[in-house]
Amino acid sequence: MPARHRKPDSASDDTMPARLLAWYDRHRRVLPWRARAGEAADPYRVWLSEIMLQQTTVATVGPYFLTFLARWPDVNALAAASLDEVLTAWAGLGYYARARNLHKCAQVVASRHGGRFPDSEAGLLELPGIGGYTAAAIAAIAFDRRAVVMDGNVERVVARLNRVKNALPAAKPEFRALTDALTPDQRPGDFAQAMMDLGATICTPRKPRCGLCPWRDDCAAFKAGDAEDYPRKTPKAERPILHATAYWMTLPDGSVLLRRRAEEGLLGGMMEIPTNSWRAAPWDPDEARAAAPFDAQWRDLPGNIRHVFTHIDLRLTLLGGRLEKVPAGLVAAPLDKLGDYALPSVMRKIVNAVVKGG
Ligand code: SF4
Repeated sequence: MPARHRKPDSASDDTMPARLLAWYDRHRRVLPWRARAGEAADPYRVWLSEIMLQQTTVATVGPYFLTFLARWPDVNALAAASLDEVLTAWAGLGYYARARNLHKCAQVVASRHGGRFPDSEAGLLELPGIGGYTAAAIAAIAFDRRAVVMDGNVERVVARLNRVKNALPAAKPEFRALTDALTPDQRPGDFAQAMMDLGATICTPRKPRCGLCPWRDDCAAFKAGDAEDYPRKTPKAERPILHATAYWMTLPDGSVLLRRRAEEGLLGGMMEIPTNSWRAAPWDPDEARAAAPFDAQWRDLPGNIRHVFTHIDLRLTLLGGRLEKVPAGLVAAPLDKLGDYALPSVMRKIVNAVVKGG
């Protein structure tokens, strides 16, 4: 059964979880995917939002979530959509493997589970695209199962409560054990969401609002006055800069030629403006012309594109050329129909640079 959100069992309960839950009942965020107090959680909405929120902010996800929900109101509808429709609707959210897994997962839930999500962490973990965090979050939020739900917000809160000296990522098991010790048997779904809300709205990375925090009397960092020093982090390695050339190829009718990327790897299965290989050394203009996928009278196009992926900082220059017909392996896309193709953000930047000059 989906979780039904209840009021705290006893107003006189003064444990840490009870204080947090009492705070949550007054200050919970209103989010498009969240059940309101007293309403049953919808596992489909919880799952969809959790997949979208991986590596993406609440503000970015909001409009995408509402579009998906309007178009595919339940998991069976999403399972019946084509992968291309899903990828196109997802374009701009990034990390496209998530969209492919989202679609695959909807199909598995529809075909093997009769359109109902499994209600345990173990069952959820068997579905495509659902890892440890997401399984715990769905089990807790959708089904009110006791689960230890860790995200960046939760890590920050427990790191500060305990002034954890270990740095991330090595500190993750310690954060998990601390969160496990705090997680109650009653209302675990609300507790998980309350932890996230506390981290997002009160125990923020900069200038936490400790005066409003239900846990200030329990918090070691508040007492020491050094909350912003936690969680400690091991410095990240810098992203490598890679260079490539994008080939803007048009037909006499003005259509632009697109190619589908391989299923595996970065931007797998998405459409692209063909590029040469992405490499550390910048491409010399003659070399870029020689590496073009087809013979044409290439000319420089204005615009230098920069796109930062999680692990790569990509710099693109542009060459334009005319072809008479569509070569094998490519598709011709009319300029005014480019929105119908699953073009990731980096490719949309190229389109904007060429078509709109921006
Ligand atoms: Fe975070 Fe301050 Fe609350 Fe401690 S008292 S948990 S630092 S908001």
